Amino acid sequence: MKKSLDGLKKIYRRVADAAADILFPLTCLGCGKEGVIACMPCAASVSFAPVCACPWCGKVSKEGRPCGLCADAVGVKSVVGSFDYHVPLIAQLIKAWKYHGMTASGTEIGRLLGEWIDHEPWVRAWSANAVLAPIPLHRRRLCERGFNQAECLARVWARLLNLSVVDCLKRIVYTEAQAQQARFDRQKLSTHVFAMKRGIVLGVQKVILIDDVYTTGTTLNLAAQTLHAAGVAEVYGLVCARET
Ligand SMILES: [Zn+2]
Ligand SMILES: [Zn+2]
Repeated sequence: MKKSLDGLKKIYRRVADAAADILFPLTCLGCGKEGVIACMPCAASVSFAPVCACPWCGKVSKEGRPCGLCADAVGVKSVVGSFDYHVPLIAQLIKAWKYHGMTASGTEIGRLLGEWIDHEPWVRAWSANAVLAPIPLHRRRLCERGFNQAECLARVWARLLNLSVVDCLKRIVYTEAQAQQARFDRQKLSTHVFAMKRGIVLGVQKVILIDDVYTTGTTLNLAAQTLHAAGVAEVYGLVCARET
């Protein structure tokens, strides 16, 4: 029964996508040119230099490691952002995909990430021997949105980096939009927002958390706390775009 319901949902989504393409033809989110979600000149203007900054204070650092002042902090070991969220085309692509379900936008992000990996080969060594864990959405948010963008990104990166995805976390607290939160507060590290899914055995010591946008670090650090409590030694973060 559940399988046939899932099948129906998929068909409904495909029909809805096709209808949306007819009703709202694609226009470049960078310059408005018709026919594509990102025209060649706009896509070519995106910088492939990753955003690597201290996960705690936002100071620029090698491979996104904590800076000297924050070195004693417990949380993610380093966070790498493929793109700068302040680049308008990147922000527009993510918003169109995440909030309006535009699949063309998600596909373009996947294509840009493929180019990004070619520009940043060190990421392969940085991520070696890890499993990728997408940041989960709360069940309520998943119902509202219909898909988890972090899960889609994890699948893209898994293919590009030849790693596997383990959907091991669940979000047990429904939180408001991250943009409204202040920078991560170390004092609040004990807040339980995530939990391990029942029956999950990771069997690895290195996990890379995957998310679409990194704003304050709260989400990744809370998820890292849950993974540490479950016995994972090293937790990293890989996000599509960093705002800080
Ligand atoms: Zn354009
Ligand atoms: Zn710092």
